[in-house]
Amino acid sequence: MATELTWLGHGSWFIQIGQTTVLLDPFLNDSPTAPAKAEDVSADFILVSHGHYDHVADVVSIARRTGAQVIANFEITQWLANKHGIENTLGMNLGGRVSLPFGTVKMTIAWHSSQLPDGADGGNPSGFLLTLADGTLYFACDTALFSDMRLIAGGVDLAILPIGDLFTMGPEDALDAVKLIGPKRVIPDHYNTWPPIEQDAAAWARSVRDQTSSEPIVLEPGGKTALA
Ligand SMILES: [Zn+2]
Repeated sequence: MATELTWLGHGSWFIQIGQTTVLLDPFLNDSPTAPAKAEDVSADFILVSHGHYDHVADVVSIARRTGAQVIANFEITQWLANKHGIENTLGMNLGGRVSLPFGTVKMTIAWHSSQLPDGADGGNPSGFLLTLADGTLYFACDTALFSDMRLIAGGVDLAILPIGDLFTMGPEDALDAVKLIGPKRVIPDHYNTWPPIEQDAAAWARSVRDQTSSEPIVLEPGGKTALA
């Protein structure tokens, strides 16, 4: 099963794994850079890393329309069920792993916050490690740099790391994250959505190329890459 990723801008991703479609953190209709609207994307599964609006904005409408199963921390799945009637969910917590038809999903640590838009408790923020037939994919999601990223090292084919700064790692810390994880390839996200998180991704990619053995890939919103 070949895996193809499309960057939907900000921290949002569309992942086609064979015939299965997986969305991560859909923030489309209110995003200044998203190349698609919530009404236009398909999803069999939706991964949600934490409760902030720029990650959950379109989860409810897409889950309702598509019937996709939403995979998130337990608090977010409870909120989706109790406040929005989204029953097809899978609640997880940090360190947990689950086998799904397209591969396994492990919920990894992220250092961030997670309150939901209405003030409800959004549990702990997370990243996701996907082990798929054609490779291993690590989404750090919104996080600071932390040295336990080293534990994820050894076999990540593609890492997606935030570089926007202010709310997450900036370019320098993301470069250190590449050194800790050692992925074969790395893609930056969570930047250039708004002026406060503007970054020069091409310059960051040059630093990655100069200082690590990872291959950086810079996408524009709507851009695609294959996992393998
Ligand atoms: Zn964010």
